[in-house]
Amino acid sequence: MTQKTNLSAGRGYLAIPGPSVIPDAVLQAMHRAAPNIYAGELPDMMPGIVTDLRRVARTKHDVVIYIGNGHAAWEAALANVIGEGDRVLVPATGSFGRGWGDMAAGLGALVETLDFGKSSAMDMARIGEALKADTAHTIKAILAVHVDTSSSVRNDIAALRTVMDEAAHPALLMVDCIASLGCDVFEMDDWGVDVMVTACQKGLMVPPGMSFVFFNEKAAEVRRHMPRVSCYWDWTPRAAPELFYQYWNGTAPTHHVYGLRAALDMIHAEGMEAVWRRHDVLAHAIWAACHAWGSAGSLAFNVADPDSRSRAVTSLRLQSPNATALRDWTENQLGLTLGIGLGMAAPGDPAWHGFFRLGHMGHVNGHMIMGMLGGIDAGLKALDISHGKGALEAASEVIATGQVSPDTSP
Ligand SMILES: *Cc1c(COP(=O)(O)O)cnc(C)c1O
Repeated sequence: MTQKTNLSAGRGYLAIPGPSVIPDAVLQAMHRAAPNIYAGELPDMMPGIVTDLRRVARTKHDVVIYIGNGHAAWEAALANVIGEGDRVLVPATGSFGRGWGDMAAGLGALVETLDFGKSSAMDMARIGEALKADTAHTIKAILAVHVDTSSSVRNDIAALRTVMDEAAHPALLMVDCIASLGCDVFEMDDWGVDVMVTACQKGLMVPPGMSFVFFNEKAAEVRRHMPRVSCYWDWTPRAAPELFYQYWNGTAPTHHVYGLRAALDMIHAEGMEAVWRRHDVLAHAIWAACHAWGSAGSLAFNVADPDSRSRAVTSLRLQSPNATALRDWTENQLGLTLGIGLGMAAPGDPAWHGFFRLGHMGHVNGHMIMGMLGGIDAGLKALDISHGKGALEAASEVIATGQVSPDTSP
């Protein structure tokens, strides 16, 4: 069935899991003449930005900023603590976990991957066994992903720390929070995370181009024992700059700094707990709708266990007609762009078209989520894709009551 009337004029909605929707306040803060980088407002903003980044990560420790994407933060973090021949353990729950491991291998590390598949969280018992088997303590770091954006699996980082402590293993706990920071609850210091990496274009709502590495004293000590660290990635001068350019090892990403300032203002005006709570309620509204659609027809959650699902992204399967047809329809007919399936099947494999993802990170609110769900509901009808009824009803019930407790898995 083809829809005759095209309804896509108007403000588009990019509902993919990064980059995310950019708030007008961020765009407006960036729309300005070139600022001076040697004195004045821009350098003066930095101490406040550092403080406010720490408040997002819930840490009192150091943070450094790189001009680069999430992959740059991966490499920056590794370059400071992992050298050639060092052993790292990678508990993978999707493509991003494996990707960080590949990057460590590229730097000469000996990478041991524990692959937990693409639909469930890390099995802490298996990690505990691997750590206990390493009696000589040669594993230098664990590279964990909080939320793997390909699978939408969310891992329990506090439980991972407990397993490391029970094994009395001294490895660094390094965590990728690129998808989760500012969406899913994260407590760097309380959970005993030694190094955390993130980027600006997801929960932090800034256009892609900046990434962040947070590190504690234990990680700084490991850095001090490295035989050498690339000057550009070295976090030491960046964490204690005497001059503005040392934050960046060169020219600052001037307009991004203004954008980040505006985004941090928005996050802290709302409050971290309120930001987390908003993502939690909106995620549950999405899951309630998906649960209803999935009660008939082929739509299904990639992650069956709600306790292992992210509040920032939801990966779904839709085989026939496939997810690509649905994404094309919502984009062309409604101006609603949904995320491609990533890492679930190889591109070129017809199964690749059987997955899609909903991004619900950052600058999203109740009416946007209801609009996204309404668009998907219309697409399922327009394309004659069999699905259960009552999805919008179920989602609006969650939004109306704010109730997030019931099990919404299919
Ligand atoms: C987006 C993402 C990355 C990669 O970030 P880029 O900015 O695309 O390099 C890595 N890890 C996770 C968990 C992500 O969500």
